Amino acid sequence: MHPDERTLIGSCARKNRYPTEEVARRIAARCEVQRGEVLRVYWCGLCLGYHLTREAAALPAEAAPPPEAPAKPRPRTRADRRAEGRARAAEHNAAVQETPREQRQAEGLQNAAAFLRKNGWTVIPPGGSK
Ligand SMILES: [Zn+2]
Repeated sequence: MHPDERTLIGSCARKNRYPTEEVARRIAARCEVQRGEVLRVYWCGLCLGYHLTREAAALPAEAAPPPEAPAKPRPRTRADRRAEGRARAAEHNAAVQETPREQRQAEGLQNAAAFLRKNGWTVIPPGGSK
């Protein structure tokens, strides 16, 4: 028995404790070859060593990894805003490309005409006299 194990509680004291993961894995591999037992290596936060366990399912409580912090929305960064801007631009470009070229040109002319009229110009459309 490892001398430290006198001070270890319960499950730790009954188990073999390995100082490194590598050692534990080597032992586990040997057990598998010799006894056909698949053992899992896990870190023990109580004795600061590695144990082997046959239980494949849940980790022992002391070895459970710290619960993940709940995902909270992180503040939007400049990169986020740039990405959003690019997404909007791409959407706009896609919409523009769906509009037929003739329609875009006609709209452009109408806008130009409206602008000119607003500024006091008389706009005579081609072929007409409005
Ligand atoms: Zn332990």
